[in-house]
Amino acid sequence: MYAVLNKMAKGITVCYSEVFPNQDNDFFHCAYIGKLFLISDSYCMNPDCLCEEAVLHFVQVYPREERKADSFMVSYKLNGRGYKIHDYGSFSKREIQAIMMHFTIDDTIVNLLNERYKEMKEKAKEILG
Ligand SMILES: [Zn+2]
Repeated sequence: MYAVLNKMAKGITVCYSEVFPNQDNDFFHCAYIGKLFLISDSYCMNPDCLCEEAVLHFVQVYPREERKADSFMVSYKLNGRGYKIHDYGSFSKREIQAIMMHFTIDDTIVNLLNERYKEMKEKAKEILG
């Protein structure tokens, strides 16, 4: 937990799978027009902060090629107020918009992100005890 504490102290978001490892659902998947993405979700662990954001890191995976992974990063508003792009990688704004729409069209994913946000805040309170 030292790495997590360190990030908390610095105000850096922490990856869900770092706090709750070895679960079946460490990462999300998303396939979009022949492109396959693994998505990690990170959260702010300041118990007093009400940002209601999940930082989503989309990493494109190439199953058959040994290409360098390409990725983009957004902070997604869990109250449904959209998202902000922090890193485009080599993706266009339009492409990211289409992928985000595809990914968040499923309520179960958005609900799960909300649950994980709450779990992370609870864990932060527990750690700071
Ligand atoms: Zn926050």
